[in-house]
Amino acid sequence: MKYKINEIFESLQGEGTFTGKPSIFVRLQECPVGCAWCDTKHTWEVSLEDEIKKPQFDLKKEESTKWCSFTSAQLLNLFSERGYKAKHIVITGGEPCMYDLTDLCHAFEAQGYGCQVETSGTFEIKVSKDCWVTLSPKINMKGGYQVLSSSYQLASEIKYPVARQSHVDDLQQIIHDNGLEHKKVYLQPISMKPAATALAIKSCIENNWMLSVQLHKYLDIE
Ligand code: SF4
Repeated sequence: MKYKINEIFESLQGEGTFTGKPSIFVRLQECPVGCAWCDTKHTWEVSLEDEIKKPQFDLKKEESTKWCSFTSAQLLNLFSERGYKAKHIVITGGEPCMYDLTDLCHAFEAQGYGCQVETSGTFEIKVSKDCWVTLSPKINMKGGYQVLSSSYQLASEIKYPVARQSHVDDLQQIIHDNGLEHKKVYLQPISMKPAATALAIKSCIENNWMLSVQLHKYLDIE
């Protein structure tokens, strides 16, 4: 199985439960969901003209639409080549759940890594049983995809971007409609905007939710 990879880097997880944890980020190419505020729009399309080979991938420093195919074994080799020390792998995108990620998780876990997937929940989540599932449900987006009810049930945490009161109202409705009152919920202000942050703080306190502030953006790290 080969995976189309946009970028791989080591940093600190900046969001949700694992905030502050050294992590290897594996960013898969392709996402049709179409969130207006998406900060990885360069991962949306897969163009065959954008395929690059590993030597070019190793030199890639800037955000771009270029991608490279890797097997799980090649990914593990790359982690070792680059001397990565983190033992937590964040599989992100793009929308990583366009792939069946079960074998990839198993390959990582067999080498002692813990896995986390970040998904919109609009495709069936296929991961190992120990993989941490961060669900960021995207509703009413341009692509017209629906969040699957199985995604809500599999979620280890729910991370919800907010900028307006209507987003908070939508989340309350989602929690009610899907019986998610027992789940760990994070509100994440969109794009560090002060008004969004103030709204998120107020709503977290009122609803007993957690705040996720995208620590990596405040620290100006990748
Ligand atoms: S699901 Fe994620 S990658 Fe896809 S458009 Fe939305 S924010 Fe961007």
